Amino acid sequence: MLADSSFVTRRRVKKLLRRKRQVDHRGCWLWTGSISVYGYGVCQVRKQQVRVHRMAAWLYLDLDPDDLTLDVHHTCGVKHCFNPKHLEVLTRREHARVHISA
Ligand SMILES: [Zn+2]
Ligand SMILES: [Zn+2]
Repeated sequence: MLADSSFVTRRRVKKLLRRKRQVDHRGCWLWTGSISVYGYGVCQVRKQQVRVHRMAAWLYLDLDPDDLTLDVHHTCGVKHCFNPKHLEVLTRREHARVHISA
């Protein structure tokens, strides 16, 4: 999807995320754009719908957005938050474990 991860794309996505961000009292960066039926913030990048928190993890946590073996967990529990400080990149297995023990 974003395999080339070009500088221009990074800059565009960063700008887009900044424009639709609302910071709440917990420090969550709430997405003011579209929300998917699953409760995640979504936006269009190169005509594809992508999840905003995965984009934030790509920009700030070096997640490869095409690597589907990695999940992004919200430590704050707010699905449409994309503050990288509230995001944790986990393997699918680790992620499942976090939710079972929660
Ligand atoms: Zn949050
Ligand atoms: Zn999670």
